Amino acid sequence: MAQYIFVTGGVLSSLGKGITSSSIATLLQHSGYNVSILKIDPYINVDPGTMSPLEHGEVFVTCDGAETDLDIGHYERFLNKDFHKTNNFTTGQVYMSVIENERKGKYLGKTIQIVPHIVDEIKARIRLAGEDRDFLVVELGGTVGDIEGMPYLEAMRQMKHELGSNQVISIHVTLIPLIRAAGELKTKPTQHSVQELRRIGISPQILVARCEKSLDKDLKRKLAMSCDVDDDSVIVAEDTESIYKCPLNFLDEGILIPIARHLKLEKLEPKMDNWNMLVKKIIAPKSHITIGFVGKYLSLKESYKSLIESLIHAGANTDIGVNIKWIDSEALIQEPSLLHNVDSILIPGGFGERGIEGKLNAIKYARVEGIPMLGICLGMQLSLIEFARNVLGLAEADSIEFNPHTKEPVVYLIEDFIDTQGNMQLRTHTSPMGGTMRLGEYECSLKEGSKLYEAYGRASLIKERHRHRYEANPAYRDLFEAHGMVISAQSNGLIEAIELSNHPWFVAVQFHPEFTSRLQRPNPIILEFVKHTLKHKK
Ligand code: GLN
Repeated sequence: MAQYIFVTGGVLSSLGKGITSSSIATLLQHSGYNVSILKIDPYINVDPGTMSPLEHGEVFVTCDGAETDLDIGHYERFLNKDFHKTNNFTTGQVYMSVIENERKGKYLGKTIQIVPHIVDEIKARIRLAGEDRDFLVVELGGTVGDIEGMPYLEAMRQMKHELGSNQVISIHVTLIPLIRAAGELKTKPTQHSVQELRRIGISPQILVARCEKSLDKDLKRKLAMSCDVDDDSVIVAEDTESIYKCPLNFLDEGILIPIARHLKLEKLEPKMDNWNMLVKKIIAPKSHITIGFVGKYLSLKESYKSLIESLIHAGANTDIGVNIKWIDSEALIQEPSLLHNVDSILIPGGFGERGIEGKLNAIKYARVEGIPMLGICLGMQLSLIEFARNVLGLAEADSIEFNPHTKEPVVYLIEDFIDTQGNMQLRTHTSPMGGTMRLGEYECSLKEGSKLYEAYGRASLIKERHRHRYEANPAYRDLFEAHGMVISAQSNGLIEAIELSNHPWFVAVQFHPEFTSRLQRPNPIILEFVKHTLKHKK
């Protein structure tokens, strides 16, 4: 049976609970344990799939096709393994299950209530995520004191009561604000947050204190005293240059000592040498490159979280510091010079018509000028449109996403894929609002001799994750190929990747390589892109 580490947040959101949870899980994993991790989102949406990227940040996609919170991406990137649908759930899902069970008569005539029925459903889902693991780290979204978080805190309290204090610990991540005028660090908000937790019946054993500068011994002791934790259990989390440094900082702060004591474990000695070396390369790389990132959700960079991280991973493994030049696709139309002085161009995924013209201009510039270019999902669809318009001379070439009546639907919708009954070979999103999407991992075959084939170490079959509704139209395939475009990956007749034969490095893929990139195992395409960017710079 798993031992549970519950991570809650106090004072305010965005304190880095996801990174804290990932870091703790990483230290346990590197100590030789089998660790899993779960994110609970207390909002009512069934999943974040229908939320705007500007509202919620990136929607992460698991291999089994779940649209999840972006923290699941952090978990995979830190722990270097695949997580699944069961590693993230929301209040919407909990209520949906309970209501479905009620309709099926499963509660034998009882009145359905938050306690016990909702709380029991929450506990069952937590246990499921911890099945066959040594540890389950459970991160509760939101802040202690939120109304919507109450049933989850009650579930945590009950689990500790049922399993005993050797099986469950509670870690509270909180903020110690610096009042600049007085130069003072303030502990009162943390005291109040812990009091709120205790009112519900949870006494945290460890505090992770986020602050701008380090806490001295006296302040640590004061916090320990007022929040009733041991003196060694106030772990300071100062701002760092890289999120990947957090596990190392936690280790230095001694977080494993109280964890081992409370969970009755032998001394924990994680092997972090390789990790440490990668972090050093992130912080002080040998060379630097600048990638022009042409996007439209630039007011919330979290919308591109996995892609940003995947560039960092590629850089860490090649000793290259990746500097991103953010280029607003709409601004590009007035100011084409924004593309000058970049070493390569990256066109990420996206939805809807806004910003399309600017991205097409950027793709044309990369194609004509021989600048390394990577297109992802929408980036591939637009590469096809640009090529069709400017090389094949099909002036009306378009995606039916932007022009449903186009005469040249180079990117189109395959009717079979929009069946919401789930009785076809492709997995789709079944929310009527979310429409239908091709989601999760699919296998595709690579063309021998292509850049992609070389990038993946001459593998003929690879698996990558998808999240899109539209597809490249195979009716144009011969025409594209006759003009120098290489179809470098395909699956069941679908075009999954393209590249240009008479260009140093122009690659575009229908899937999202960034979802499978990890610090210790960068994605091969992103790695190759970063290497070619440096080559071009030189
Ligand atoms: N909007 C495009 C589609 O739905 C691309 C999606 C994406 O880039 N993730 O197919």
